[in-house]
Amino acid sequence: MSIRSHAFNSGPASSAISYLVALALLAAAAHAQGTDAVTNPPAAHGVAVANIDKSVKPGDDFYRYANGAWLARTEIPSDRAGVGVFSVLADRSSKNVAAIIEEEAKSSPAAGSNARKIADLYNAYMDEAAINARGMKPLEPHLAEIAAIHDRHDLAIALGKTLRADVDLLNNAVFSTPNLFGLWVAPGFSDSDHYVPYLLQGGLQMPSRSYYLDNSQHMKDLRVQYVTHVAAMFRLAGLDDPDARAGRVLSLERAIAETHISLADIEDVAKADNLWTRTEFTARAPGLDWDAYFEAAGLDQQQQFMVWTPTALTGEAALVASTPLDTWKDWLILHLVEQYAAVLPRDLAQEQFSFFGRIMSGVQQQRPRWQLGVGVVNTCLGDAVGEIYAQKYFSPQAKAEAQAMVANLIAAYHKRLDALTWLAPSTRAEAQAKLDTLYVGIGYPETWKDYSAYEVRPDDAFGNQSRYSLWDYHREIARIGKPVDRHEWSMTPQTVNAVNLPLQNALNFPAAILQPPFFDPEAPAVANYGAIGSVIGHEISHTFDAEGSAFDSKGRVRNWWTPDDHAHFEQQAEKLEKQYDAYEPFPGIHVNGKQTIDENIADLGGVAAAYDGYRASQQGAEAPTVDGFTGDQQFYIAYAQNWGSKSREASLRRQVLTDGHSPGQYRADIVRNSDAWYKAFDIKPGETLYLAPDDRVRIW
Ligand SMILES: [Zn+2]
Repeated sequence: MSIRSHAFNSGPASSAISYLVALALLAAAAHAQGTDAVTNPPAAHGVAVANIDKSVKPGDDFYRYANGAWLARTEIPSDRAGVGVFSVLADRSSKNVAAIIEEEAKSSPAAGSNARKIADLYNAYMDEAAINARGMKPLEPHLAEIAAIHDRHDLAIALGKTLRADVDLLNNAVFSTPNLFGLWVAPGFSDSDHYVPYLLQGGLQMPSRSYYLDNSQHMKDLRVQYVTHVAAMFRLAGLDDPDARAGRVLSLERAIAETHISLADIEDVAKADNLWTRTEFTARAPGLDWDAYFEAAGLDQQQQFMVWTPTALTGEAALVASTPLDTWKDWLILHLVEQYAAVLPRDLAQEQFSFFGRIMSGVQQQRPRWQLGVGVVNTCLGDAVGEIYAQKYFSPQAKAEAQAMVANLIAAYHKRLDALTWLAPSTRAEAQAKLDTLYVGIGYPETWKDYSAYEVRPDDAFGNQSRYSLWDYHREIARIGKPVDRHEWSMTPQTVNAVNLPLQNALNFPAAILQPPFFDPEAPAVANYGAIGSVIGHEISHTFDAEGSAFDSKGRVRNWWTPDDHAHFEQQAEKLEKQYDAYEPFPGIHVNGKQTIDENIADLGGVAAAYDGYRASQQGAEAPTVDGFTGDQQFYIAYAQNWGSKSREASLRRQVLTDGHSPGQYRADIVRNSDAWYKAFDIKPGETLYLAPDDRVRIW
C-alpha cells in the first residue's frame, strides 16, 4: 500500500535542492504572483463569476468553464514558474509577513527577543552590499576543513557533520536532500508515542534520480547544462580546474542516483519499515566509517534507526569507499557552495538561479530580494512570525466558523462510513475510531517553538543561516526518545497549504489558507464548502484511505483493513488510475495515474464529503441561487476555482514527473465522478468528461 505526501498542494519543498537553495527559489519555483489576479476584479463574496468562461461547455472541460476567463486575462509574471489561487494567497501572506517584519524592526525590540531576531535576520539578509563586501570569507573555514580531509575516516566525519533534519517523509513530503543522507525525527512506526530517527537516501542536487539517469533528450540536455552550471560555481568560488571538477561531481552524483530508489518506492511505507541497530550498519552498509559518521552527527548514543531506503544506504556507503577521495572533496565543496549561494556574493546567487530557476523551472527572472528575505524569515523563525500573523489575520470568529465546518465534514464522513457496504464491519469501526481521535488544528498551533537558543546577528547573513540549520538539527535530535506531542504542527500559520500527519492522526489547516477565495466568512456557505470544504475533506480522506489504512487510530503502522477491503479498494483505485493516465498535458507526456492515485482519491473523497456537509448545513433546503447559479452549481464551480492556475512548461513537466499531485486542471475534473455534478450542469453522453454511471469511481 503506497503512502504519499500529505501536504494538500505541491510546493517548492519537494525539490531536491538544499533548504537554502530552496529559499532562493522559494518563489522562483513556487507558483506565486504579485497581483490579486484571481480575485481581480475584487469579486463579491462566493463564486468568482468573472473567472468563468460560459463559451465552454461544463461537460467538455469543467476546469476551463470555471476558470477560462481568468486564464485568458492572466499572464505568468517573469519571476514566477506559475500562478494560481495558491500563489495569490501566498503573495498576500508574504506581504503580510513583510509588514510584520517592518513593524517589529521599527519597535526597537529588546536584545534576545523574537522581534529582535526577526528584524536582525531580515536586515542581515537584505544587506547585499555587506554580503558582497565579505566575499568568500565566510566559506574559508569550511573550505579549509574540506581541504584537510586526508582519509576515509576524515571523510566520514565531514559527511556526518552535514547531516541535517531536512527531510520529511509523511507530512510535508520532502524526499530529497543534497547531503549524503537526510534525517527525519518523527513518531515511531510501532511506538507512535515516542520520536525515533528515520534515515533517507540523499546526495543529489537535482530533484530526483531520473534527472541523472533518464535518457530522454530533454534530460540529456539538462545534464549538459547542469555540468556547465557546476563548473561555473567552482569557478566563481575561486577553485582551479573547474571543468574537471564538475565532470567528476556529475559522475559521482550519477553513481549515487543509481543507488537511489524511485519516488514511488519511497512513498511505499511497507518498504520503509527497516529497523537497524547501530552495530548493524557496518555489516549491512560497509564502506562508510559509521562510528565516525554518527559521532560527528551527534548521534553516537543512538542505538536504533529506521532506515527508509536500505538499498540506497548500502549503495551510497559503498561509494564512499570506492570513489576517489578528491572527488568526494569536490562534491562537498559544491554542496557547500550551493547551500549558501544566497548569502554569498551576488555572482553565485545569480548563477544558481540561472540553472535552478531559469533552466529547471522556466522562471525568467529572480524575485525581488525582499520576497526572498521573507522566505528566509518564514523558514528560520516561522513560529515567531506565525504567532503575530495569527493574531493579526485570523479572527476568533473565523476560527469558530472553520471549526464548525470541520465538525460538519467529520459528521459527513461518519455517515458515509456507516453507509459503505464494501468495508468489513471491523474495518468500519476502526475508521470511525480514527475519526473520533483525529486532532484537527485550525489556524495556528497551541504552543510555539522556543527560539531562545538560536543566535541571530544583524551583520552576519551567512552565520544566521548556518546557525539556523544547526539549531534546528539539534532541536530535532534532542527529541529522539521523548514523548510525542500529537498537537504539534508541521506547518506555520502563514503557510498557504494544509497537511495530514498520519503518525499523529492529526490535520493542520493554517490561517493563511483559511482566507478568501478558499474561505470567506462573508461568502454563501455553499461556496465555502466547495472551496475550503473540499480541501478539509481531502485531508480527512487521507486518514482512512490507501495511506490511512497503514496507520491505526493511535498513529501506529498497523494494517487494519481486511484483504477483501483492499481488493475492492484496489479495483476502484485502478479505475481512477486509468482515468488519470489518459490525461496528456504535453504530447506524449501523460499524467502518471499510479504516482498520483492517493491524491486523486483524496480529491474524490474530499468533494463528496464537502458536498454532503454543504447539504447537511442547508438542513434540507436548497441554497439560494446567486448570479443565476444554483446552490449545487456554485458548489462545483467554487471547487474547480481552487485549481485555476498557469504553469511554465518546465515547471509543469517537473510536476508531472516528480509530484504526487496531479496538475490543477485534472484535479478540478475529478467532479466527473459525482452524480450530483451531472445533474447540476445537465451533462450529457458524448461530452468530453462524460462517464457512464458504471464508470464513475466511487470509493468513499
Ligand atoms: Zn493530499
